[in-house]
Amino acid sequence: MFCKNCGSEMNENAVACMSCGFAKGTGEKFCANCGSEINPGAAICIKCGAAVTGGVAGGEQKSKLTAVLLAFFLGGIGIHDFYLGYNKYGIIKIILTVCTGVGGSIWALVDFIRLLTGSLNTDANGIELKKEF
Ligand SMILES: [Zn+2]
Ligand SMILES: [Zn+2]
Repeated sequence: MFCKNCGSEMNENAVACMSCGFAKGTGEKFCANCGSEINPGAAICIKCGAAVTGGVAGGEQKSKLTAVLLAFFLGGIGIHDFYLGYNKYGIIKIILTVCTGVGGSIWALVDFIRLLTGSLNTDANGIELKKEF
């Protein structure tokens, strides 16, 4: 990923840019995904198409640990989806669970694994989940 203030490459796990000192996710001059310059106020990067989240530290990050626990214990009724803002998927899981008994739980297990492996790593607004483990 790249610093949104100066565009220099920064480590995924760094909390701040080593070049300009801005906190990770702050600044609005460069794309965090590809590092190219973006127009002030643009909603997406025209180079790579990544969503540009506002200058306010990328918004509030949801807890990955909470999402994993919810998916494991209450995933059959989509609670982790509601937590992450994927309300549509949550509702589908409830319907699946009501109709088939296990459908929602199987899907939740897939989400659980995707959360653990990192392939599901953002909430419905595209904000990266907080990594607690
Ligand atoms: Zn920087
Ligand atoms: Zn980009």
